[in-house]
Amino acid sequence: MTRDTYPERTDKEIIKLGFRGRCPRCGIGRIYAKFLKVNDECWNCGLVLSEHDAGDGAVVPALLIIGTIIVGLALWVEFKHEPAVWVHVVLWGPLSLGLTAWILPRLKGIGIALQHKHRSTEEATKPGGS
Ligand SMILES: [Zn+2]
Repeated sequence: MTRDTYPERTDKEIIKLGFRGRCPRCGIGRIYAKFLKVNDECWNCGLVLSEHDAGDGAVVPALLIIGTIIVGLALWVEFKHEPAVWVHVVLWGPLSLGLTAWILPRLKGIGIALQHKHRSTEEATKPGGS
């Protein structure tokens, strides 16, 4: 595979790559330099990642998913075990932060990868070669 020819990927493949934080074009390079800091470009294929516009697009689905999990678990624990209030504070605060730290990069990666697939950002080379 040369630098200018990369396969056209299906949405399922793109979502998997974004979830894993991999470059949506070559699948080898990483999207992130740090936690949510996107690399300027892919070290492997040179895809410019700095022009993505994922913004806060991952936040709303993250809130919905995490909120559903936390509220569901809190209700279950409350009705099943009837613990003291401090138990809820100790359980759900750290779990909320942990889930957020885990899911946000994955959802943002999916957003960036889907932008690449559907060409909503400017890019000189198209998947499959130009
Ligand atoms: Zn790449």
